Amino acid sequence: MTETTIFSKILNGEIPCEKLHDDEYCIAFNDISAQAPVHFLVIPKKPIVSLSECMLEDVNLLGHLLFIGSKIAKSKNLSNWRTVINTGEESGQTVFHLHIHFLSGRKMKWPPG
Ligand code: 5GP
Repeated sequence: MTETTIFSKILNGEIPCEKLHDDEYCIAFNDISAQAPVHFLVIPKKPIVSLSECMLEDVNLLGHLLFIGSKIAKSKNLSNWRTVINTGEESGQTVFHLHIHFLSGRKMKWPPG
């Protein structure tokens, strides 16, 4: 059975979001708690829990998520951004539906905390 998450509720329209993109495979929307002037998420429509749950059949989907995020960033005239995928609780994952963070608009620190 597929677990309900806040993102599955965003996908089915139960919870509103500031949507930036919607296609057959994914949506992108602004993060509700932005950690940078630009902070949006790209999530697959397929309910994948995390990167560690991806299968070989998801390879094209993973590329698509990155490509769409990059396209959105460029449409915002950005040339610098950070992409983050938290996998597992200790890494900071709080929503267990795969998502890629795109952050920009400020200088990023390294190493990340
Ligand atoms: P994680 O910590 O799992 O890598 O990232 C989850 C992200 O989802 C967080 O940055 C959090 O702010 C965002 N988020 C959680 N709930 C909502 C929501 O209801 N709407 C939106 N737009 N973002 C959310």
